[in-house]
Amino acid sequence: MKFAQYHIDPAIKESLEELGFRKPTDIQYKAIPSILKGEDVLAIAQTGTGKTAAFAIPVADRLLRKRQLNVLRCLVMVPTRELAVQIATVFRDITRHTGLKVLGLFGGVGQDPQIGALKNGVDILVATPGRLFDLSHQGHLALAHIEVLILDEADHMLDLGFLTDINDLVRKLPTRRQTLFFSATINERIKELAYRIVKKPIRIQLSPKDPVSKNVDHAFARIEMDDKRFFLEKLLKERPEAKVLVFVRTKLRADRVAAAMQRVGIDALVMHSGKEQTDRLKVLTSFREGQSRLLITTDVNARGIDIPDVDYVVNYDLPDHPESYVHRVGRTGRGVKRGEAISFVSKEEQPLLDAIEAYTGTDIKERNIDTESYRLTVAETEDTPNDNWRKLLEEAAATEPKKRKKKS
Ligand code: AMP
Repeated sequence: MKFAQYHIDPAIKESLEELGFRKPTDIQYKAIPSILKGEDVLAIAQTGTGKTAAFAIPVADRLLRKRQLNVLRCLVMVPTRELAVQIATVFRDITRHTGLKVLGLFGGVGQDPQIGALKNGVDILVATPGRLFDLSHQGHLALAHIEVLILDEADHMLDLGFLTDINDLVRKLPTRRQTLFFSATINERIKELAYRIVKKPIRIQLSPKDPVSKNVDHAFARIEMDDKRFFLEKLLKERPEAKVLVFVRTKLRADRVAAAMQRVGIDALVMHSGKEQTDRLKVLTSFREGQSRLLITTDVNARGIDIPDVDYVVNYDLPDHPESYVHRVGRTGRGVKRGEAISFVSKEEQPLLDAIEAYTGTDIKERNIDTESYRLTVAETEDTPNDNWRKLLEEAAATEPKKRKKKS
């Protein structure tokens, strides 16, 4: 379907033609009809997908239906000054033949020209929360006629600490309004904010590349760094027949994890760039031919190499580069086979998980481990050196205060 066939104002169509926008992008195709109908939208989409025009086109059309120019009816909140400028420009481009006025509002520059522009009348305001909050506090903003609120890059706004500003501002807006919520990534914090301010939204999740094969069932579990080996041990013991490929961050960790598995009676092959090429080939052959069912490796093995019948990929550590995630999990579920992948995610690795979700455009499923099973997994390890070590530490902690007392 082409823009020419959409029921939108001819003045908008004219500018789209000038901009060279003939057909909607995926996000535009999915979002425009709902926004035109006045529905709330919750969209997970990255920059580059055409998301700005996905809201700017239908919002401009809605504003034009009620010819009430120079009244602030659309507020776009964005995290940064650069984005405010960029989005204001897109709105201006799209509305250039309509008479709607657009203003970009952000900190780091004098307030007076902005206050002057507001006084002259603005239809669409694209603003960072900080400056918006300041001007609203000083009484320069009339928010009573806002019909559409757009939050763009909401995840980035939360990262920058704008949650309170956003909440305060939203409270000042009319409750009867349309809310469009855009974020590149989704997590619990974003969901909480989103579901507080949108009503019965249409949910649009873009997977521009959705690079993970449909044959791979991939999930993550929250496991702290020091506990990961116990969970690997459990996974391997529960699947004695499975061929498992484990990815770790460094060569040293590959050797350590292999040693930890050997301590609990699980044989492991190790492969990384510190090994001779011939060794690496031998290891690969051995794994490929099934002489050993467990291979622990760094990303040297993530790309390209085709190992048949890998049942399970474990991201023991998350990769630094999101694209490596796709290469890693792509080692299973090859051809028409199905495969499984699990990532062990520690607290410190949350930003890496966010980056992977942004890159893949998917919300990776979480496999919940309840507190009791977590405790049992750690307690039931056969890794005795660890127990001894823990015992020693506990004993040391218990005797420490007594020693101090003696001294004093
Ligand atoms: P955005 O994701 O909004 O930053 O847009 C990414 C780029 O896509 C921008 O350079 C837009 O000008 C361009 N763009 C957006 N929509 C279309 C379209 N329908 N046809 C061609 N280019 C587009």
